[in-house]
Amino acid sequence: MGAMASTSSSENPRDRIESLRRMLEQANRAYYVDAEPLMSDRDYDLRLAELGRLEVDHPEFDSDESPTRRVGGQPIEGFVSVEHAMPMQSIDNSYDPEDIASWFARIRKGLGIGEDQPGPVLCCDPKIDGVAISLRYRQGRLDQAITRGDGSRGDDVTAQARAIRAIPLRLDGSGEVPRLLEVRGEIYMSDDVFESVNEARALRDEPLFANARNVTAGTLKSLDPAVVADRRLSFIAHGRGVVEGVVPASYSDFVASIRAWGVPVSPDLRLVHDLEGLLECIDAFGGRRSELGYGVDGMVVRVDEFALQEKLGSTSKAPRWCVAFKYPADQGETVLEDVAWQVGKGGTLTPRATMQPIDLAGTTVRHATLHNIEEIRRKDIRIGDRVVVEKAGEIIPQVVEVRLDSRPADAQPIRPPTACPACEGPVEQEGPKLYCMNPECPAQLRERIAWFAGRNQMDIDGLGDKIVDQLVDRRLVLHLADLYSLTVEQVAELDGLAEKSASSLISAIGASRDRGMARLIASIGIRQVGQSAARTLAGSYPDIDALLEADEEALQALPDFGEITARLLHETLHSQRGRDLIDRLRRAGVRFTSDEHGLDEPSGRLAGKTMVLTGTMESGSRTELARRLEALGAKISGSVSAKTDILAAGANAGSKLEKARKLGIEIWDEKTLLTELGEA
Ligand SMILES: [Zn+2]
Repeated sequence: MGAMASTSSSENPRDRIESLRRMLEQANRAYYVDAEPLMSDRDYDLRLAELGRLEVDHPEFDSDESPTRRVGGQPIEGFVSVEHAMPMQSIDNSYDPEDIASWFARIRKGLGIGEDQPGPVLCCDPKIDGVAISLRYRQGRLDQAITRGDGSRGDDVTAQARAIRAIPLRLDGSGEVPRLLEVRGEIYMSDDVFESVNEARALRDEPLFANARNVTAGTLKSLDPAVVADRRLSFIAHGRGVVEGVVPASYSDFVASIRAWGVPVSPDLRLVHDLEGLLECIDAFGGRRSELGYGVDGMVVRVDEFALQEKLGSTSKAPRWCVAFKYPADQGETVLEDVAWQVGKGGTLTPRATMQPIDLAGTTVRHATLHNIEEIRRKDIRIGDRVVVEKAGEIIPQVVEVRLDSRPADAQPIRPPTACPACEGPVEQEGPKLYCMNPECPAQLRERIAWFAGRNQMDIDGLGDKIVDQLVDRRLVLHLADLYSLTVEQVAELDGLAEKSASSLISAIGASRDRGMARLIASIGIRQVGQSAARTLAGSYPDIDALLEADEEALQALPDFGEITARLLHETLHSQRGRDLIDRLRRAGVRFTSDEHGLDEPSGRLAGKTMVLTGTMESGSRTELARRLEALGAKISGSVSAKTDILAAGANAGSKLEKARKLGIEIWDEKTLLTELGEA
């Protein structure tokens, strides 16, 4: 045994472990059950890491339900098929409100309810578009998770389910929890997560997923729980299987109980008392459906009381006490008429389909994205084909499938352009995408100027698309920085600009010189670096020159900066084009200093200290250690200079250690570092 722990925390390790576990469980519950987040992802990760370290030091307090055990062991070797204790039946469904009305009449008759009598009470529950699963809790502990499969048998996905933070490993309130409880529900992916998964895939040049349901299903098939954890899936309960113990009298009571025990349920559950209320509920929810942030394709309507459900029973296929109303499809079939290639601000050529107009999710859709040339080849999409188009929420409509069986004889293959449609510059394929390789491409420049001038970037009022087009077409602007040398006379010549608005445009451009570092960084269009990353940079560096001195490692240590973002940012800033852009903007008089730097001056024991980490640390990655030092107020830098206060050097430290010695900088070994972090 090594040195005994003399932790700086007043709590003993056992209490701290218990309190961290509770805190993390509460954070999950606050996020997934109450939709009121308690802490940021970063705080969650920091506490999870602290818990992990304590558990390693104190194996005597191990517990299977610890949040660290969600992604515990090795990837599993394969799936085992398991029989459901109670079959997961499918539900009859219909797009027609008339069918819902006849269903209601049928169940009233089946229950012997007279013409002038009310009832039964119905419960409306949104039908989430995900993957159905059955979770079995024994004595309040998650014991087994099985996919729906064919309804009578499914795959055991217990390891995968444990990795999903929305699924409690232990139910809260052990005294009242049934000995055996099967909760059925839907595992799904929110639109936000879906988009970020696809963005990350695009960066790695991997094929994009067509929709959130496909990724969810694919993720659950992953044998490695770490992949599942990484995908941030959600869960919402929508039914029960076998229950041994006290059973509530109705579905709505059941939902209230499991919610109290920490199981996520829909916040949109409604009780209705008659047909009118039912149709109103379906209609009202339909209008809000696109605002939810996840896919809902219908409304499940069921008789609320369990005793009445039993009385109605099931057919061989589906329960009689339940029906699903499906909202008009977000998918539809139409004919692909043409494909145009659009040039984006990074030079990407994106194929955009023009189709025969089709009504989807309440809007008329004429265009859809085909993603990239590889997707076109993979799906073998041709002009003239009948295609299936899908629109989900606010996401751009996309062609998801080709009806190969109804392909007309004269369907034309889609040929990738050999030259840029905007500038006739050379086109090259990198990964699945095509790029215009001409750095002077006017289409790219147009996109870059429009982005630069946007409200959230340099906020140049009056620089709309029509003006940008003319500035580029007349070669008045060949480079972003040229904006700042435009004169009132030059822009007064443009169509659609009176002299007065010409001078206000010039003063708006002039005023944008002073937006400061955060907006400037966001405006120059570095892949992966949006507003929040730009603000982080402006908070961490006093000006762009300081940022230019930072190496990749230092950038990686910034909050929410991963390896890819750090690399792209560093590459872009130090590329010929990046340096050229910065030089020209500097000469144009654009301000490079930060308004955010030092604003929330860090407090803590290491406040004001600039630290550098080097060498191999036994106790964790440098990135992780850097984050913890920052939490104590230290500023982490990537290189040793006269400004460095402390160098923390692990094993095999090289030139940085040497330089620090020469400069007489305070040096900590790993043991000292851990003591300072309150660990050893
Ligand atoms: Zn071009």
